[in-house]
Amino acid sequence: MEYMSKSFRDLIKRPEFKERYDHQKKQVKNDPEVQAFLKEHAFEIEEGMIDRSLVKLYEFTTQSKNCKDCPTLAECKNLLEGYHPRLVIQGKSIDLQYDKCPNKEAHDERKKHESLIKSMYIPKDILKAQIDNISLDEPGRLKAVSLAQDFVELYSKTNHPKGIYFHGSFGVGKTYILGAIANELAAKKVSSMLVYVPEFMRELKGSFHDHSIDQKLEAVKKIPVLMLDDLGAEAMSSWMRDDILGTILQYRMLENLPTFFTSNFGFDELKHHLAFTQRGEEEQVKASRIMERIKHMAIPVELTGRNRRD
Ligand code: ADP
Ligand code: MG
Repeated sequence: MEYMSKSFRDLIKRPEFKERYDHQKKQVKNDPEVQAFLKEHAFEIEEGMIDRSLVKLYEFTTQSKNCKDCPTLAECKNLLEGYHPRLVIQGKSIDLQYDKCPNKEAHDERKKHESLIKSMYIPKDILKAQIDNISLDEPGRLKAVSLAQDFVELYSKTNHPKGIYFHGSFGVGKTYILGAIANELAAKKVSSMLVYVPEFMRELKGSFHDHSIDQKLEAVKKIPVLMLDDLGAEAMSSWMRDDILGTILQYRMLENLPTFFTSNFGFDELKHHLAFTQRGEEEQVKASRIMERIKHMAIPVELTGRNRRD
């Protein structure tokens, strides 16, 4: 013990060490989060505790908290990628506890969903889509872009604005705008799921045997923001309409969870598609029921313009 403290005393006398030590101490003392912690725990802070914990406290000040300095998980600046520290009192010193950061939480949640639902995707050319990049050359676009922007701005844990139903012909940029909304929500740490409806229906049909259908449905029902891409492009059956689509929409409507749609069909054509057999009154009633939910949940906007795939 005697030897240790002597060597420490010798070390501290060395100018470069002293300089570094003073710098660290200053940085720790000036850190607002450290100050708040010390204030909050004033009763538990004992003599010498801060000096004893200086290395940990300094490490705390150098790490990004709540992803403040890291735009994405890949750009995480912390010692342990995806983990951020919090201060805790551990016996007679102050220690750090590392927890998953919000970017890592969102990333892991997304991975979990991706492994569960194969028809959840954002096409490669849309990965970097942004609302600001959408040209406003057509009157319908202005409305689409301003509604999309309002949604992203207004959405919060407690405020759930209506979704949007984008309709229009092939290649006008309906999926692109959903991708842009999803990206901007992700930047606000809001989870969304973009599901390609025809593939999702095929996937559900194929997952009867492994019992994953309930899990898949649960994930889609409960995601904070759901985007159903290309509704109407699937070969509809009454099972898909009533047991799948109907169930998802019913849940989301009651829980006030925002839902977006894209379709080649306007409301009237979609209704016709949903009453797929012309066998009689009952199908019409069931189709109307789905349409009522969609109309309740989403504002219709027609997108016009050239086919951007040409
Ligand atoms: P839709 O879903 O209406 O059929 P997409 O959203 O798939 O159309 O768009 C068709 C093509 O045009 C895609 O390759 C997409 O990346 C591109 N695209 C659409 N909107 C834009 C845009 N605003 N800026 C750049 N590329 C766009
Ligand atoms: Mg599309």
